[in-house]
Amino acid sequence: MIQRIKVGMATCGIAAGASEVKEKIEEVAPDEEIVEVGCIGHCYAEPLVEIETEEGSIFYEDVEPEKEFIEKMLNLEEENRFEPPSVRQEWEEQYVLGLAGDIDPTSFQEYEENSGFTALKKALEMEPEEIVEEVKTSGLRGRGGGGFPTGMKWDFLASSGEKDKVMICNADEGDPGAFMDRTLMESLPHQVLEGMLIGAYATGANQLFIYCRAEYPLAVERLNIAIEQIEEKGLNNLNGMEVEITVKEGAGAFVCGEETAMIHSLEGKRGNPRYRPPYPTDEGFKGRPTLINNVETFSNIPLLVREGGEQFSQVGTENSTGTKLFALAGDLEYSGLVEVPMGISIHDVVYGIGGAEEGSVKAVQIGGPSGGCIPAEHFDTPVDYDSLTELGAIMGSGGLIVISEGRCMVETARYFLDFTTEESCGKCTFCRVGTKRMLEKLERITNGEGTEKDIQDLDDLGRKIIDGSLCGLGQTAPNPVLTTLKYFRGEYESHVEEDH
Ligand code: SF4
Repeated sequence: MIQRIKVGMATCGIAAGASEVKEKIEEVAPDEEIVEVGCIGHCYAEPLVEIETEEGSIFYEDVEPEKEFIEKMLNLEEENRFEPPSVRQEWEEQYVLGLAGDIDPTSFQEYEENSGFTALKKALEMEPEEIVEEVKTSGLRGRGGGGFPTGMKWDFLASSGEKDKVMICNADEGDPGAFMDRTLMESLPHQVLEGMLIGAYATGANQLFIYCRAEYPLAVERLNIAIEQIEEKGLNNLNGMEVEITVKEGAGAFVCGEETAMIHSLEGKRGNPRYRPPYPTDEGFKGRPTLINNVETFSNIPLLVREGGEQFSQVGTENSTGTKLFALAGDLEYSGLVEVPMGISIHDVVYGIGGAEEGSVKAVQIGGPSGGCIPAEHFDTPVDYDSLTELGAIMGSGGLIVISEGRCMVETARYFLDFTTEESCGKCTFCRVGTKRMLEKLERITNGEGTEKDIQDLDDLGRKIIDGSLCGLGQTAPNPVLTTLKYFRGEYESHVEEDH
């Protein structure tokens, strides 16, 4: 007996045809309860439908909006049933994503019935400084890329004597191949906001922004619905402190993911980074102390507060606690969103979870365009902030692109540098001009006109750009080139040798 039917309607599902599937189910079974849910992470199998029965849930993959297909599915036939691959189940740790794809993202009630807002209630019975201590104890580090300790950042804001303070959720996810934040906002908007409300109470921030890229209209819509519900229930009143929550849509500049550029953009100015100090927690939005954390960081907070910082720190490694979301893309079997404990090896992510053919992978690009290429011989490296930095890559926000043996690493580096060159705001010469010169040299090499000197120049220029750039964009833009030069120099040389 069918109890209700859930259709995966995050952007990944909709792009694969979930809206048409839902319409067809409504047409074929008008009396059934049909619910739109978010993403369960198995994007490669979309459109996905879950049928809840008295005996448990049955999933169907690659669902077609055809009457015959839908009828067979509603008869619970075996064909097209979906079982998450055991390789993924073995490694995944559903913590932050626990409710993703399971509840209706527009329903306050469903979130509440699944322990939603219990952490906020618990927090409001604590002293603000106790919450900051819990976050410090947890060892949680910012999931947006830099890995700065979250509790310390909260402490900076909480210690400010100013009356008006600002908290911003960085949802300007611009890395090619990254969709962790989008999935969280589309699937669990109440969880993101609960984390922000706890942060606001802990630090005394009374003005909250979510700076979300405009290319995420569904996330913006679901966040706004959740904000309205929170305000209706009065949950934005934190023991007498009324907080205002606003979603601000970005205008598509990658550099606005940088803290000071984001603040300028929110103020209505051009989104250029500025020198620090002063740091935003001292002087940020309109001169007020301002804290910025990203979507995944805030999404960790309700669970962290519910179970306590000590318990949170039991997962992961000593210096990188908790779990991390990764958007898996590229040459692998199971692309999509995964959540893994920190410290898992790159090998287990690529082969164990991603299902790539053993031995077929040459490298992974980790951390987006600011990250680096890690070759297969380092796949036993644990995925944690410090180990990745030692290899010349960074955790970044969690984009992980798998590159198979047949691909050209020079072309891969050119692709990422092309992106960052385009996105440079132009304020500093090294980033504005230096990345262009690097790109020209890379194009010469890939076009068969490069020389040995071009290879050497790439290395020199890359290091100068890192040293001479003002913000993270310029300081990391050469990473894909420098890491491929370090680990795949032979490929650069063979391009040059072949053609001379
Ligand atoms: Fe702009 Fe690049 Fe300088 Fe950053 S490093 S401020 S993006 S020019």
